[in-house]
Amino acid sequence: MAIITNMNKIYDYDLNDLINYVNSIGLKDFKARQIYNWLYKKRVADFTLMSDLSKDLIKRLKEEFVIDILSLVDKEVSSDGTIKFLFRLLDGSLIESVMMVFDYGYSACISTQVGCNMGCTFCASGLLKKQRDLTSGEIVAQVVYIQRFLDETGKRLGNIVVMGTGEPFDNYDNVMKALKIINDPHALEIGARHISISTCGIVPMIKRFADEKVQYNLAISLHASNDRLRTSLMPINKAYPLKELLEALKYYCVDNNRRLTFEYLLLKDINDQKENADELKELLHGLNAYINLIPYNEVKEHDYETSSDKRALEFYDMLKKRGIAVTLRHRKGDDISAACGQLRANHILGDKDENM
Ligand code: SAH
Repeated sequence: MAIITNMNKIYDYDLNDLINYVNSIGLKDFKARQIYNWLYKKRVADFTLMSDLSKDLIKRLKEEFVIDILSLVDKEVSSDGTIKFLFRLLDGSLIESVMMVFDYGYSACISTQVGCNMGCTFCASGLLKKQRDLTSGEIVAQVVYIQRFLDETGKRLGNIVVMGTGEPFDNYDNVMKALKIINDPHALEIGARHISISTCGIVPMIKRFADEKVQYNLAISLHASNDRLRTSLMPINKAYPLKELLEALKYYCVDNNRRLTFEYLLLKDINDQKENADELKELLHGLNAYINLIPYNEVKEHDYETSSDKRALEFYDMLKKRGIAVTLRHRKGDDISAACGQLRANHILGDKDENM
């Protein structure tokens, strides 16, 4: 059910935009700072609660802006504390965000697009093609929502991973605008080193990201050790094969003196063999990087299976023996629709009712 509105979404406005807005109606900059503080520090969900603004300004904000842009459609809670939220946007689109609990704190995994066009053959997000990019406000609002949820028990989000549905580097400007607010000490205040962006490898955008010299962590969905295999899993590899990808990553590492993360899904009999370990050694030689091995969350529309726990450990050892820095990720949210895009796909493709 879409709510038709021509009002602006307040979370699309960064501090500069808010300053321009208040100036345009004859008010001083500090009014914008007050609004910004209510939005991101006090995190109120209603303009009426912004008690140090004049009645006139509140009335005007209510007429011109909408604050409530995510409505909860479904929530799945895992026994390990992971919570998956399914939201409806104002135009009726559905998106997912996930909150995870680690021993170092709370982390949110956020989406950047409605659907995804990258077409990775193992992924649930790509079951539904991209309908549109999320606006910066729709990206920020996911973090505000989860932080508000944690506020109820006095807890704080410490980490953001841009690893939900969508390809962040296919919506670069909106993602970067959103992350600025998420990172801003006067807003959501999540340290840059605690924010990770994951990309399937859009080379020109990796170079742009390197040139911006922001401190966010960069993760690359690698998933394969040679071009033939990677192209069969990830069509983006046709446009930007491994050689080009690795050149861009070397540029990023040297220029930024940063360590890269490679995500590597464990797909049974497909990419978990000795020759894959040998190839990875060659491929990553000289890069300041480590590989994060990730158990595959099986998706019923796809045939892939995850490597057994035994095989995962064997592959981990093979990489270690070859001098590669490697970690093995624990499963999270195993008992819910944890794979990227799975909850949304279940709703849209008919496995679940639309309403709670
Ligand atoms: N488009 C970006 C970010 C979104 S996907 C990217 O490709 O990196 C986030 C990560 O989840 C990627 O590494 C992706 O390959 C992985 N992923 C997708 N489907 C998965 C599944 N079923 N199980 C485990 N990881 C999955």
